[in-house]
Amino acid sequence: MAQLTDDCFAFGGALLPLSEAQAHIAARFKPVTTSETLTLRQASGRILAQDVKAPIPLPPQPNSAVDGYAFAHSDLCEDGPTTLPLHGRTAAGHRPANVPAHHASRIFTGAVMPQGLDTVMMQEDCEATAHTVTLAPGLKRGANSRPTGEDIAQGAIALHAGRRLTPPDLALLAGLGITTATVHQPLRVAVFSTGDELTDTPGPLPPGRIFDANRAMLIALLDRLGATTHDGGILPDNAKATAEALRTAAVTHDLIITSGGVSTGEEDHVRAAITASGQLEFWRVAIKPGRPVALGTIGNTPLLGLPGNPVAALVTFQALGRPLFDRLAGAIYRPPPMLRAVSAFAYRKKSGRLEYVRVTLDHEGTAHRYPKEGAGIITSLTESDALMALPETMTQLHPGDIAPIIPMGLLHG
Ligand code: AMP
Ligand code: MG
Repeated sequence: MAQLTDDCFAFGGALLPLSEAQAHIAARFKPVTTSETLTLRQASGRILAQDVKAPIPLPPQPNSAVDGYAFAHSDLCEDGPTTLPLHGRTAAGHRPANVPAHHASRIFTGAVMPQGLDTVMMQEDCEATAHTVTLAPGLKRGANSRPTGEDIAQGAIALHAGRRLTPPDLALLAGLGITTATVHQPLRVAVFSTGDELTDTPGPLPPGRIFDANRAMLIALLDRLGATTHDGGILPDNAKATAEALRTAAVTHDLIITSGGVSTGEEDHVRAAITASGQLEFWRVAIKPGRPVALGTIGNTPLLGLPGNPVAALVTFQALGRPLFDRLAGAIYRPPPMLRAVSAFAYRKKSGRLEYVRVTLDHEGTAHRYPKEGAGIITSLTESDALMALPETMTQLHPGDIAPIIPMGLLHG
């Protein structure tokens, strides 16, 4: 582990690589929530607290994938048509027919395969009379028949603890006959904005003021992650008030997220509040935008201090807030899958820091740089399609280069 706490000063302000910051989060913190058992509908989006094993195999019995004729593959001629006498008929949800040896049997999609029959030919490929069916050669053994446990074997782990339950996860649980899930309680998160310039009072803006943009975004991000989110409002640029509000919030929350006030200016009081009431883990990370981002504790409650510029706040939330949230909430953190796009532009950057460049994607998947690059430009978030994530080691991107991107939508869910 590289520099932690306030060692960053000892290293002349060296920046902590994002991968190390994330590894530190995983090592330093543990899940803090207890679990509860809910109906599947209530459990949607919640984090599984235990592995779920399949109590039955899926499918539970071998069944037909098509409407057609079931037969034993050993009765099929290899080099010419096969005519078999027909016996019985099996529809989905009904008992399979009892079929004598060397007979075929009418069968429908989802119907259980009659004993002794292992293969089904689609009705379109057969010629049937009232009493016989003629099958073309060439079908493989087991074709169009879904064997028991093909989807999941009995006793296998269907879903692992730490998974955020998706709608398809609910399909799997319901398909296994499971009606409840044991999930983590929602993480209780308090969100504060900081800055004397901020207001949330509707109406004409007083001179020098701006409306608070970050809190609405951060609360929505946390709500989507399944948090019980508390809106802590706006903190003034005042050391005592900041420290007091954060100390109070720490008593009843599992995580505090602030934005603004973590830089090195005289009006930046969040870091001071951490050092006064807890411990600073790190506060400078090698990413742009978002370099000043502080992680620490107030009492025993982790606090993530995001930078104030909205673009930096979103970037640092996805890079550090999401892994921290997941760790505390009992979820297995999965970084957004790295997709790639062809760059339409050249870009120079410093080595040693990960840079997120806002891009729009055209219909061919080419990435165009969003023209306004300020970290305060909120429309650059609403109008771009992805963040291009240029790695620490890179110094020059050329037009035509293929670069990693994270679609904006993945930052929100
Ligand atoms: P700070 O990190 O406090 O130095 O703030 C950096 C920039 O972000 C300043 O221009 C602030 O006015 C702006 N800012 C801080 N917090 C917010 C917020 N909640 N909404 C919109 N802009 C903000
Ligand atoms: Mg500020």
